[in-house]
Amino acid sequence: MKVKDYDGYVSYQYLEAGVDYKEYKLTRQVNRVKPYEIPLSKTEEERVQEILEKYVIISLHDHLEVYPEDPSQILDYIRRGRMWIAYEGMAASGLDAVFAGLYDGVGSIESRDPWAWENIIYQIGMFLSDLKHQDFMILAERVDDIIYAHNNGKVAAIIHLEGTPNIGSNLDKVDILYGFGVRCMGITYSQGNQFGSGLADKRDNGLTDLGYRLVDRMNKLGITVDLAHVGDRTSLDVIEASRYPVFITHAGARALWPSRRMKPDEVIQAMAEKGGVIGIEAAPHTTLTMKNRVHTLEAIMEHFEYIVKLVGIDHVAFGPDTIYGDHVAIHRIFREELAISTTKTKLPEHREVEYVAGLESPSDFINIIKWLVKHGYSDQEIEKVVGGNILRVLRQTWK
Ligand SMILES: [Zn+2]
Repeated sequence: MKVKDYDGYVSYQYLEAGVDYKEYKLTRQVNRVKPYEIPLSKTEEERVQEILEKYVIISLHDHLEVYPEDPSQILDYIRRGRMWIAYEGMAASGLDAVFAGLYDGVGSIESRDPWAWENIIYQIGMFLSDLKHQDFMILAERVDDIIYAHNNGKVAAIIHLEGTPNIGSNLDKVDILYGFGVRCMGITYSQGNQFGSGLADKRDNGLTDLGYRLVDRMNKLGITVDLAHVGDRTSLDVIEASRYPVFITHAGARALWPSRRMKPDEVIQAMAEKGGVIGIEAAPHTTLTMKNRVHTLEAIMEHFEYIVKLVGIDHVAFGPDTIYGDHVAIHRIFREELAISTTKTKLPEHREVEYVAGLESPSDFINIIKWLVKHGYSDQEIEKVVGGNILRVLRQTWK
């Protein structure tokens, strides 16, 4: 077993429950749902363990927060902006590094503006405060930090903003984000902004003049560009404008499932030609396919295999986009509270699930490795898709 150097630290244990913060009964981090079985032979099991130890394992997008067990408390918990980090879950995940999406939506219920500057700074600051009270999870600001985590039983967290905060036209605020540790950032988050159009916009007007300057500033600073929630036309503009490869941190193929959250072949191919990487998404009811209309690991891997065939194994990774808690309940809460939907197109018939069997939380990343071993992928191929491809892009984009 891959052993991580975790000493049992629990978020905010440096404060007093009931005095400094309101306590919630949080969901368990390991085995919240029934474990998913991928039957492997003894030799295959050994190979999985070898892979975990030998290679740097990276998730291109997940959320490390732990949610309350009782769904009726989730909204109140989110509004307080104090999210628990799943140290225990991460220690059991086999991951060496994770692109940690910082709690999109915190504060959004109050202000209707999840991307307000104060809100983003609040989230980053709270995350860093907790992180700095322990030494198992480290903040990754350079590639060496990720390698260090792999070699020393730590987990490296990369601060990843799924969209650019509302910074008006003040691009110097992007320097400030870099200073606080942000190393990967989306141009838009589903709805368009002053930089470009989002995937939910009816019309995509492409990257704006200010958007071109944003991409340039991110290139110069060393923040990797993410297109996961960006509109198609704007994505193509960004890929052309960026001097370095870009990520699509969490998505799938629209050729397999006609949702706007999925990417058309044209965008995936342009991203790959530039040297970039797409992380395969696994949040409930996203990466379905016409063949796999119940969301499980099988549907997710159908997206993986399709994209590998389309652009080659050097351009694919995994960005499961999972959380610790009832993800389906959270989707429902946000849908009701904000009356937003990122998929306006009517989707084909599919069966709703309570959770994605095989990729329920970030700790299930190991099931991806098991699946790849089971399906005859070579060590070299697995090394690439579980982290190697991501490291290649980071070496080009981070300073
Ligand atoms: Zn997302």
